[in-house]
Amino acid sequence: MPDDPSQSQKPENGGVAQLLNFIVDRAHVGIFVINREREIVLWNQFMEIHSERKADTVVGHNLFEAFPELPQKWLDRKIENLMILKNFSFTSWEQRPYLFKFAHNRPVTGGVDCMRQDCTLMPVKDEAGEVQFVCFTLFDATDTSIYQLKLEETTEKLREMSNRDGLTQLFNRRYIEETLSTEFDRARRYGNNLSVILTDIDFFKLVNDNHGHLAGDEVLRIVSQRLTDGLRGTDILGRYGGEEFIIVLPETDIKGAEILAERLRIAVNAEPIDAEGDSLTIAISLGVTEINEKTQAYAQLIAEADLGLYKSKDSGRNCTTVYYPGLDQDSD
Ligand code: GH3
Ligand code: MG
Ligand code: MG
Repeated sequence: MPDDPSQSQKPENGGVAQLLNFIVDRAHVGIFVINREREIVLWNQFMEIHSERKADTVVGHNLFEAFPELPQKWLDRKIENLMILKNFSFTSWEQRPYLFKFAHNRPVTGGVDCMRQDCTLMPVKDEAGEVQFVCFTLFDATDTSIYQLKLEETTEKLREMSNRDGLTQLFNRRYIEETLSTEFDRARRYGNNLSVILTDIDFFKLVNDNHGHLAGDEVLRIVSQRLTDGLRGTDILGRYGGEEFIIVLPETDIKGAEILAERLRIAVNAEPIDAEGDSLTIAISLGVTEINEKTQAYAQLIAEADLGLYKSKDSGRNCTTVYYPGLDQDSD
């Protein structure tokens, strides 16, 4: 071997056994060995650094006495199985985040509180094939777990965003239809009430035409907020189209839905909206319906609420109409 300034780091020329000792000690993974009595017989540098326990303070001691925080019952069973089955065993940080509670040197913003560890248990057999030792290797999986956590957070954000309308932050049409479909099936199965309100801003085109598109957008946001403020936690509000909103009301009968619709109508109309410096009084029209034994599908509820809404527009706007069979003929 050529001369090397880091010679002092290298093993003396004492053969392969020494070389192996050196490698085991300096490897960037935790390596430790226990005997059948669970006494520690080898403890490498990685284990020393992260446990803050020198090898000479733990070698010869029972693993579980030296580290009472270890999951003894679980780990002991694992060791016992390995002695009997004589094969490798593996636990990933995803199943059990860590064996030893070691600090890690990543920023706290990573969201992972201590070192995540992948761990293998390797049986070391004697000439008779009996397992005399178990060699543990501990891999630092903290970085992987931080990336995984970030990925999950991003996926969750994307999923949430894909359900929302960008302008109003209300649920979008796709999400609300999925939800209505689920609620429809549930109401059918358990015989629960389910009502739907469809509402549309009156003369909204005039807002855009007279005050500009930005003012129109602001009106949409504020109307959304006023609707949201008037609802209970279980009510589900979405933007159904341009200036049209839908509210799904699980476990609500038509009386309750009509009262709510009127309350929302009054709340939207109560105070002028400040949009781009203009003070605008905004009104909405509403249509309401509820499930009954003849309702074929969730889409029928939307169609019925839409007929009610159409009737409200036809009756002069800024009002609520409850759907009833034959309403469409009456409107003709
Ligand atoms: P009605 O009382 O019969 O509902 O009349 P209206 O003027 O509200 O109805 P109409 O359907 O004629 O106009 C709806 C307008 O809503 C037309 C469209 O440009 C506008 N609109 C739809 N989406 C948006 C949006 O995201 N922002 C803005 N500013 N306007 C929008
Ligand atoms: Mg409108
Ligand atoms: Mg409309």
